[in-house]
Amino acid sequence: MELIDVGVNLSNRAFARDLEAVLEKAAAASVHVLVATGTTVEESRQSAAIAARFPRQVVSTAGVHPHHADTLDADGLQELETLAGKPEVVAIGETGLDFNRDFSPRAAQEKAFEAQLLLAARLQMPVFIHQRDAHDRLYPILREHRDSLVDAVVHCFTDTQKALHDYLDLGLYIGITGWICDERRGEELRRIARDIPDNRLLIETDAPYLLPRTLKPRPSNGRNEPAYLGYVLETLAEHRDQDLDLLGGITAANARRFFRLGRSLRISDSADVDLGPGLRHE
Ligand SMILES: [Zn+2]
Repeated sequence: MELIDVGVNLSNRAFARDLEAVLEKAAAASVHVLVATGTTVEESRQSAAIAARFPRQVVSTAGVHPHHADTLDADGLQELETLAGKPEVVAIGETGLDFNRDFSPRAAQEKAFEAQLLLAARLQMPVFIHQRDAHDRLYPILREHRDSLVDAVVHCFTDTQKALHDYLDLGLYIGITGWICDERRGEELRRIARDIPDNRLLIETDAPYLLPRTLKPRPSNGRNEPAYLGYVLETLAEHRDQDLDLLGGITAANARRFFRLGRSLRISDSADVDLGPGLRHE
């Protein structure tokens, strides 16, 4: 089985000391491809550097998270565009709205979100979206831009059935994290997980955050890792009444299609390396 973790914060300092071991452990757990999430201009740069360092296993995104929206200026936007031109960068994001924490003023969040949607549309790249307690505002913005966007995923989906169907109606992908492994916080998600069509489903760890509560024993450092993606898959399969291996394969195929992994220049043009199972050209 091949699994693809579509959202992992590899540039987080939680991974600074043992990144190589974390990637090896992920590969041993069949997590063959990881999409390293960019959350600021600097972290997007670092994520791209990690992807360049591990071309067989890692690709990355370039974007500014709503928490940091007020840091995005014209230079930053230009830098995101430059990063997006690199073969290892496969999506714009994460970007979106977070009215749960409100770390950046809402007006700044909306401005940064729209600027990144326009960039993704212009570059015809998929978008990696973050939405917390902001569906009522994010949805109309997204709907307005939908026709110009190639694809978008609402990552770490934690919202209501109504919100889920709004996104599905726009033809978006839905990212499921270890949130679903939490029997209290993930209760509604467990109930509505079967509403998501097979071909719209992606899985992610959002590591080092969101350690699956189904993981026993809990690691002493409390750190989530891409190697634990199987726990997300397991709980998801259970609540969709689906075969685990089959669902794993479906989500990996979706991730390859969504991020257009087979068409990455790096992957198809690298003649001097053994491509391995992770990023082989389709
Ligand atoms: Zn997020």
